[in-house]
Amino acid sequence: MRARTLMTWSLLTTLCFLFTTVVLLGTLSTMGPVGSNDEHHLNVRDAAFSEPQEEPVTRNPENMQVTLDIKKSQALASLLQTMLKTHERPSDDYFGYNVTRSDEISVTREVPDARSTECKSRIFNYSSLPTLSIVTPFHNEALTPFLRHVHAIVSRTPPQLLMDVILVDDNSTFSYLGEDLQEYFRILDNRIRIIRNKERKGLILSRLQGAEEARGDVVVFLDAHMEVCEGWAEPLLEKINSQPAIVVQADVSPIDDQTIRLSIGEPIGIRGGFSWELSYIWFPLPKYVDQFRHSVWEPFPTPVLQGSCIAIRKSYFDAIGQFDPGLEIWGGEHFDLSFNVWMTGGRIETVPCSRIGHVYKRNKYTFGSNSAASTILKNNLRVAEVWMDEYKHFVRAAISRIRYPPPVFTEAEWRSIQERKRLRQERSSKSFSWFLDSVHTEQIVPSKDDVSFGEIKNSESGLCWFVFEDGYIGFAGHCGFILKETCFSLDKYGRLKYRDRCVGYDESTFLLMIEDCPSKSESTISMTWVHKDTNLMTAFHSEYICATQVRSRFPIHTGQEVVQLQTCDKHNQYQRWSFMHGFLWQNVFE
Ligand code: UDP
Ligand code: MN
Repeated sequence: MRARTLMTWSLLTTLCFLFTTVVLLGTLSTMGPVGSNDEHHLNVRDAAFSEPQEEPVTRNPENMQVTLDIKKSQALASLLQTMLKTHERPSDDYFGYNVTRSDEISVTREVPDARSTECKSRIFNYSSLPTLSIVTPFHNEALTPFLRHVHAIVSRTPPQLLMDVILVDDNSTFSYLGEDLQEYFRILDNRIRIIRNKERKGLILSRLQGAEEARGDVVVFLDAHMEVCEGWAEPLLEKINSQPAIVVQADVSPIDDQTIRLSIGEPIGIRGGFSWELSYIWFPLPKYVDQFRHSVWEPFPTPVLQGSCIAIRKSYFDAIGQFDPGLEIWGGEHFDLSFNVWMTGGRIETVPCSRIGHVYKRNKYTFGSNSAASTILKNNLRVAEVWMDEYKHFVRAAISRIRYPPPVFTEAEWRSIQERKRLRQERSSKSFSWFLDSVHTEQIVPSKDDVSFGEIKNSESGLCWFVFEDGYIGFAGHCGFILKETCFSLDKYGRLKYRDRCVGYDESTFLLMIEDCPSKSESTISMTWVHKDTNLMTAFHSEYICATQVRSRFPIHTGQEVVQLQTCDKHNQYQRWSFMHGFLWQNVFE
């Protein structure tokens, strides 16, 4: 499968910035390089982290632990056995996680209830809450995680609130997802419906199709390998009930891709934004948001939805134009909906009392005739065209650096982009610069002179540059975020910038440190930097010397990892650096 080579998924456990007020722990799920050797990755939609907990696991799938009546559970158990025995399935490698392990675990297992007592003790007036429909598209999903997904919904959603569970089969080709599956769900609960796509439509169109069929007041879009936890629905519905124009998401925690355990603990206050090629990036909660919360369990505004759990009132979803149907297969839709909601007067919140597990798969299915990368990047360009005003140029320049030439739109696609823009205008949308000033305030906006941007990472140690209080450059524990503390840029004049200052060096130790910037014209004669073949070099007399990660043996930062200029040595791995992303401005303004 091409996804295996093009998009290796990696989990980066995150991070402790010792020198800032930010202390946060997280797990980032990232999607690997797309058509480039760039070390930094396009991020996928979501992630969260917590300490793993033991949970009851049964080796025998016949053991249905839930409160199904005995006859039903016997019928389901025996059907499941037949399904597992009689249908072939691809190897675990195809799915990118340990489906063999999943097959050993009960599809009706209990999961830990990690909610605080304040979440658990809330009393809801069910008769005043809106009803809900689940919409889950699935394409060639593994069987047992999918059954677990549906069992969890049916057993952990108050019956008076759950109207229907709409499963949109996006043209799956595996036989175990056919008639037997239909029969399984028929026995389980008559609110479950399967819609079968005759052709592959992708996640976005399949969700739209499911939403059309939904009869509940609220639609909740989920992924087929998610497991909802006890009490997940009520706080989402209550929040939606409190405001007409709001979209909410649960706190989504990882289900380990090897052990299939749900790692769930206290929520960590992080919220979603983007890097400039429109990958999903996590940011710690800004102080001005966090200070009004009395506990980590209180909801908080979120610039960008993580994508795998979206709860929205159906009438509001229709009123704002749903997802852009011009987005193909997978990707970009959570940016589209998030920008749409905020910029047309709505709001997005994360509700930590609502907990859901999600398997972060290492592999992706095929994307049809186009490559995954070109489809995703084209979707991102489309979102930028519709919503991002002049900031779309950054997206185009960032995408051009990953993939050149960047994806192109047909005439019909341009027309449909104009149509979405017209809808945006009709709804008196605010500007993207308003979104950055008022909602996504932690987003760092590059300058149009920048060619490389974001964290600077050493390929040997995997550590990223960080500025100490005294201005010397050392390393932050982990990479994967775009934070003010770790964001550098290299501009077209060769200036290596940190905020409004520049990177220079201490003339006695050759250690890198922050200094005032030379003017643009000056920079050609004084300190200029070149990033070439992964070396980050500056001229010294008549030759180049290279930034090198070293352990300081100087009286300054003794014993700590710092960056020093040294003679360039192509065998020295500690001289290899990558920026989180770059901009190729060529032809961007065409
Ligand atoms: N999906 C689909 N059709 C597609 C691609 C994805 O129905 O062409 C489904 C997929 O089976 C899953 C959901 O959409 O239930 C989200 O996809 P995925 O889990 O791959 O997204 P991720 O979690 O990686 O963002
Ligand atoms: Mn998923």
